[in-house]
Amino acid sequence: MTGAVSLTDAPVVDAHSHGFRLSDLLGRSPGELLDRITMLGACLISSDGLQPEDLPLVHELTDSDPLAMACRIRLSELLGCEPTREAVSAARHEALAADGTAYLRRLWDDAGIAGMVVDDGYPLPRVDPIEMSREADILIHPVVRIEPLIVDIRERVSSFSELEDAFSAQLEAALTTRNAVAIKSVIAYRTGLDVAEWPPDQVATAFTKWAAAGFPESRELAKPVRDTLLERTLQVAKRVGRPVHIHCGGGDPSVVLNYARPKDLFPLLNRHRHQPIVLIHGGWPWLEEGAYVASILPRVYIETSINTAWSSLIMDQKLEAILGIAPTAKVLFGSDESTEPELAWISALTTREALERVLGAAVCRRWMTVADGVRVGRGVLAENCARLHDLAL
Ligand SMILES: [Zn+2]
Repeated sequence: MTGAVSLTDAPVVDAHSHGFRLSDLLGRSPGELLDRITMLGACLISSDGLQPEDLPLVHELTDSDPLAMACRIRLSELLGCEPTREAVSAARHEALAADGTAYLRRLWDDAGIAGMVVDDGYPLPRVDPIEMSREADILIHPVVRIEPLIVDIRERVSSFSELEDAFSAQLEAALTTRNAVAIKSVIAYRTGLDVAEWPPDQVATAFTKWAAAGFPESRELAKPVRDTLLERTLQVAKRVGRPVHIHCGGGDPSVVLNYARPKDLFPLLNRHRHQPIVLIHGGWPWLEEGAYVASILPRVYIETSINTAWSSLIMDQKLEAILGIAPTAKVLFGSDESTEPELAWISALTTREALERVLGAAVCRRWMTVADGVRVGRGVLAENCARLHDLAL
């Protein structure tokens, strides 16, 4: 009864992903490919690296991780090998080494991925989007992350007003030279999402003390500066007509978990309700809270990564919650691929299937027609992201 909504030919634009280089992919140990695809593995890598003492445990946990198992099975089908971890890792390494670009093209074709919106703040040094586009044979839409810009500038200035002016100028220049479609902030990993408006003299004093202390990430010293620079970012974004992506929700262990919820960001979202802001990860695991905010503020958007596909067995439930609470035309599929391109591939594949089930059930329950279901599904997979970022599909 749920097969009515078909999204087989719907293109996918991944609204949140990260850059990679073929040489880096080939340089990693093939046997731990699936470890790097799990939430645990990817988060350990992006925080302080996968430590040698954690490796055996992570490796063992991967064997019973639903997303890793799905990857193992589906990659074995794609590569024509036995569905064992060893066979899949070896066949994948062989395909990547033989012709990496052709292998990646197979992944994109298999999952119907037409483009990727790439946050350039991780990994560092920045992956060149033109190079990535050529190596991976895929359309890349860059997003400029503000935190690396702040690090570049703060050492070279002697006051907050100098920092603020240099920051605005460099942000605008980066948007142009990198041909960026959006701006990103990970303030949830620095001082928290409870961004406040500060009196100028307090910000100036905080900057002087922060610089003198060697830029520790303390809420007392760094927060007034980072909050004010994010406010400035929103002004720049509004002037140049770009959406702002804000990491919202949990993430790797370096997140400021006490101030990472959508409710913490709400005052800022409410102050800036006249410009588009995307909640990256939709507030995971406080997804309902993020979707609720998107349901009461007109220009708050939800990006689905972590819910798709790291949530694996509860993906349908997460998509039901997002689509039932937030206006569906403000929901954008994303993978948060940051370690291996297969994460983008498996996320697109499984999200397409989950949407067909969830929207098919909605048709059966008479919430919408089949045509509505297809329209909503195509919107989530690509069209909502394309419309918001002005991308050609
Ligand atoms: Zn990310």
